[in-house]
Amino acid sequence: MHIHEILRQRRPSISFEIFPPKPEYPIETIYTTIAELKPLAPDFISVTYGAGGSSRERTVEIASAAQNRWGLVSLAHLTCMGSTPAEVEEILEELEQEGVRNVLAMRGDPRPEGGASHFLHASDLIRHIRRGHFSDFSLGAASYPEGHPECPSLEEDLVHLKEKVDAGADFLVTQLFFDNEIFFRFVDTVRAAGIEVPVLAGVMPVLNSRQIGRIVSLCGASIPPRFARIMSRYEHSPDALAEAGMAYATEQIIDLLSWGADGVHLYTMNRPDVARRIMEGLSTVRRALNGSEGV
Ligand code: FAD
Repeated sequence: MHIHEILRQRRPSISFEIFPPKPEYPIETIYTTIAELKPLAPDFISVTYGAGGSSRERTVEIASAAQNRWGLVSLAHLTCMGSTPAEVEEILEELEQEGVRNVLAMRGDPRPEGGASHFLHASDLIRHIRRGHFSDFSLGAASYPEGHPECPSLEEDLVHLKEKVDAGADFLVTQLFFDNEIFFRFVDTVRAAGIEVPVLAGVMPVLNSRQIGRIVSLCGASIPPRFARIMSRYEHSPDALAEAGMAYATEQIIDLLSWGADGVHLYTMNRPDVARRIMEGLSTVRRALNGSEGV
């Protein structure tokens, strides 16, 4: 099923992100994860591509398994930096053969070795896909409520975001953030710029203090005072910090859904136990939003 069709339903979507295990680990480890995520009934599950040292080849295999073995809708991430059009098409061909018709089309981070790239920006990849044989894929694009780290201003980033949507992106998934007000302002600005596609809010539960350092250095997410207090108070109590991190993410999602976000994309970090805890905390809210209870 195409994700843009799922997003047409009159309720917010809840989706999950997983990443392929590193090449030295058997692929079955992620299959156990998917089997445990399946009963949580996500609207779709996304599989990252080469991020965090994971193997690129495994993305297609895992996206296919999630869809064909577990009956989930899969979204395969795809980056284009350093790839030729033929390489991109080979992956799209494999996805098509497996029945996966949803791609999160991105540029990717510049390669340390540098070098020329056919595709310079995600909009080039999106345009390329829309003009070719795979034009009927549902295409998502990445968005950054606090601006992409390389971009001098949020305003300029927004111009490039609009280019991606004009090139054919059907929906947007955001970078993680901890301050919902930043997301709300971002969506208002996106709408004012004439971008009308659904914007799915990326939420990552923080489970340990190392993770925070990594997040801040990688994507520069702002840390609101309430979140900073929790993190510093339980810095040396790992179980308490994980508990508080999951509670924070749950509250963040309830607030996003109450505000009217089009959907929430949960970065599960391949932790079905964490996803389950968060989804349990949302069960009544989800039922109310899905119309099976009076709101
Ligand atoms: P672009 O949209 O091309 O933007 C990159 C930068 O270039 C921005 O600063 C933008 O403002 C600027 N820009 C865009 N167009 C132009 C133009 N025409 N002229 C001048 N400047 C321009 N990475 C992975 O490797 N694998 C993954 O699976 C993965 N999944 C992700 C999922 C999400 C939800 C998000 C938010 C990010 C993910 N990333 C992943 C990270 C992503 O690859 C990086 O953030 C990357 O640096 C930018 O990718 P992009 O598609 O947003 O790039």
